[in-house]
Amino acid sequence: AKPSASNFLRQIVERDLAQGTYAGRHWAGHPADAQTHLAGPLDPAKVRTRFPPEPNGYLHVGHAKSICLNFGFANEYGGVCHLRFDDTNPEKEETEYVEGIKDAVQWLGFSWDANGTSHLYQASDYFDFMYRAAEYLIEAGLAYVDEQSPEEMRANRGDFSRPGVDSPFRSRSVDENLRRFREMRDGKLPDGAAVLRARIDMASPNINLRDPALYRIKHAEHHNTGSKWCIYPMYTYAHPIEDALENITHSLCTLEFEDQRPFYDWLLDRLSEGGLINKPHPRQYEFARLELTYVVTSKRKLRQLVEEGHVTGWDDPRMPTILGLRRRGYTPESIQLFAERIGVSKAGSWIDYSTLDQALRDDLDSKAARAMAVLDPVKLVIENWGEVMGGDDVLDACSAPVHPHDVSRGYRHFQFGRELWIERTDYEDTPPKGFFRLFPGNKVRMKYGHVVECIGAERDASGNLVRVRAKLVPDTKSGTPGADKVKVKGNITWVGVADGLAAEVRLYDRLFSVPQPGTGDKDFLEEINPESLKVVTAYVEPSLSTAKADEKFQFERHGYFVADRVDHAEGGKGKPVFNRVTGLKDSWGK
Ligand code: ATP
Ligand code: MG
Ligand code: MG
Repeated sequence: AKPSASNFLRQIVERDLAQGTYAGRHWAGHPADAQTHLAGPLDPAKVRTRFPPEPNGYLHVGHAKSICLNFGFANEYGGVCHLRFDDTNPEKEETEYVEGIKDAVQWLGFSWDANGTSHLYQASDYFDFMYRAAEYLIEAGLAYVDEQSPEEMRANRGDFSRPGVDSPFRSRSVDENLRRFREMRDGKLPDGAAVLRARIDMASPNINLRDPALYRIKHAEHHNTGSKWCIYPMYTYAHPIEDALENITHSLCTLEFEDQRPFYDWLLDRLSEGGLINKPHPRQYEFARLELTYVVTSKRKLRQLVEEGHVTGWDDPRMPTILGLRRRGYTPESIQLFAERIGVSKAGSWIDYSTLDQALRDDLDSKAARAMAVLDPVKLVIENWGEVMGGDDVLDACSAPVHPHDVSRGYRHFQFGRELWIERTDYEDTPPKGFFRLFPGNKVRMKYGHVVECIGAERDASGNLVRVRAKLVPDTKSGTPGADKVKVKGNITWVGVADGLAAEVRLYDRLFSVPQPGTGDKDFLEEINPESLKVVTAYVEPSLSTAKADEKFQFERHGYFVADRVDHAEGGKGKPVFNRVTGLKDSWGK
């Protein structure tokens, strides 16, 4: 494995491994089987992490950071990482998202069950255990059924400036609490009529410890448990239990859960006192969530972009969803590299989008086949071609390496001819300073081909460039003896009119035109970049006729492109479609 930069979480993991913090009794069976759980076999100390998405949407680049972090630790230290669906909220969750999340994690390069130790779990499998643990807390005098109205509960919780007020239900007897909780479970009470609360401290300076809710009533179907339950555990109650049953060692989460940590520890301490879970307990550690410039990373906002039609779907190549990044052409390796480079810290900060693009370039530079493409084509006509070559229709075979640093990958072949497609911006009537490309009287090399001398251009009535005129400079073909006796400063990419392929090229740009959308006075939707997509008809060299969907290329001078996963027609059966992933260097804002 490649050496990884240190960070505060890695130091904690390495300390715990060195000290054997988590050597102990660990059950290797299904965590939901909690009876046997307590009598499990010994397991050597290992890092055990989890990635716990709520299946209520598609994953985004922020989740990718968490996936790379959690699975990365497991891989790096020979441990285990579970994919766990935190499906404790029955209404918002759908099977579609479960499948989408599995795909995303696998695509990113991680797996469960690969070595028989990492698993796919769902929190709803532990509902029986969670219920039993709740009855235990009631029996131990540590939980009560509160029947205040939601408004009363809110008012009586207090705030930072004043302590909370005890609920009149706080001093109910164990028997009454048990009876009432069972009535909740048995569907005798409507939604919102009661909640089960921990009995901790209504005066705690940490508001999360002012008797937090453990269970609420929700008469709703669950995608996994159906109509078995009409009470559902709160996330804050369920999460520590899930971690404990799975013998998680390091429970990594984002900073907003920092204030929940005292309750996390309180709950696990009480449950192990009651003999319900094992020690050593998992420990929660918080890190700053990823904020990436020029995109939004909130499921709610991403859903709004999709549902209101600002993008074409969850997999729109401008979306920072894993599906969008994938379709745009980002590779799993580039996202892993990105996650490694941004690291983890306790302090929140915005990461510049260019960091992701640079990771993509660094991944693809050595991998992607090269190709020539003309994105804004205009014809270059070589007027003396027939004269020099023995006929206007004569074609001259040229070639270039598939990869400049790896000749073992072979050569691409294409034809030079009287007419070539060139970039419109490669011609100027009067050259600005430092312009070495085509202008009357200047000689340039057509890359991998011949040197030509520009003799002028034609424009239409409104001044648009129609064609550029040139003449061939004989005996200058690349790779032939004496080819470089004519010195030129410009080297131009081109595609032959005779063998070039028309292709749709989608030039994507940032989805938002400001770095931190939605953080100022304006709604994030008003900050959408109106020019985030420009579709052009380009000409590409014939080697791209065999491009497969999802295959990545470096279009020389232009950047990295991918054959669109959805719309690209393979094998010349229709229109080739390429997406621009990113340019060759960071030119955003320049
Ligand atoms: P969102 O706020 O976008 O709805 P979430 O946090 O509610 O995301 P979950 O499905 O609960 O989404 O997230 C699963 C895991 O991914 C959690 O451990 C969460 O901390 C982590 N995560 C989510 N967003 C980010 C982010 N921007 N950066 C790092 N980790 C994240
Ligand atoms: Mg969440
Ligand atoms: Mg959230």
